[in-house]
Amino acid sequence: MNDAPSPVPPLPGWRHVYSGKVRDLYEPDGSVVGVALRDRHGDVVLVVASDRVSAYDHVLSTPIPDKGAVLTALSLWWFEQLADLVPNHVVTTDVPVAVAGRAMVCRRLEMIPVECVARGYLTGSGLAEYRNAGEVTGIELPAGLVDGSRLPEPIFTPATKAALGEHDENVRFSVVVDTVGPAVAEQLRDLTLAVYARAEAVARERGVILADTKLEFGTDPATGDLTLGDEVLTPDSSRFWPADAWEPGRAQPSFDKQFVRDWLTSPASGWDRASDVPPPPLPPDVVARTRDRYLEAYERLTGRALDL
Ligand code: ATP
Ligand code: MG
Repeated sequence: MNDAPSPVPPLPGWRHVYSGKVRDLYEPDGSVVGVALRDRHGDVVLVVASDRVSAYDHVLSTPIPDKGAVLTALSLWWFEQLADLVPNHVVTTDVPVAVAGRAMVCRRLEMIPVECVARGYLTGSGLAEYRNAGEVTGIELPAGLVDGSRLPEPIFTPATKAALGEHDENVRFSVVVDTVGPAVAEQLRDLTLAVYARAEAVARERGVILADTKLEFGTDPATGDLTLGDEVLTPDSSRFWPADAWEPGRAQPSFDKQFVRDWLTSPASGWDRASDVPPPPLPPDVVARTRDRYLEAYERLTGRALDL
């Protein structure tokens, strides 16, 4: 189901090494700036958030303007809010002008192949598992929960990272233990739940429910420390719901690409999700409303407007 990757911008001083669904990673190309950075911080990568949007395991052909800037600014803001709980990979936001505002220079981590998910509310793949088996990743839950229910307490529901175009797969904690050993597995769980608790409280003060979130950790080769990498607590990695509209028993409105998903699965798009055909381009009003939604998430959570 791989759709054609879009070309990445060449950046002076940096060499492109990898593109995920949304981010493009570069390493220093050996010129002066990169060498200076490496001397001071060890191996670094430039993480550039593009305006690409993915839905239903496809990267869409239509970008959402400024989405990369919103994701980067929001991640940076959260890294600060969490700095006393966990070290993060950010080195500097002094980046090439062509990607200013949507890129950060980061310590290059050895990424841990586990998606660290915390859930405080039941929905999505968690809800699907619960409906099948009454549990999520082996964690038993009380009967009678519905879409959007608040869980008795937040739970750690890890997943293994899928190849491009595949679904992530929820796994039991024991699979994480088998992958990284018991000590690191426990650290991942404890850090993920601590980050969730902090972020949930911050969001709640702003009238936003943090239903769940996915974190990615890596090991910093310089220190050996578990370090928070990637993006953090953005609408792409988390479910944020307006608290005043929360009503368990139905899908909740959310601060993310909901308009994109809704349109793609509506008759208007003419797209068959079950087919292997890439989704069609998004109409301008869907793009505009989605852009507004991302900006609103930033403004609601941080309490400030984004300087674009
Ligand atoms: P993937 O490409 O891994 O399937 P994805 O599509 O979500 O996942 P993006 O978010 O677009 O990927 O790209 C970010 C990539 O960079 C991810 O693979 C992530 O694990 C990796 N990454 C993030 N931070 C770092 C870091 N500090 N060092 C090395 N790799 C990192
Ligand atoms: Mg990602």
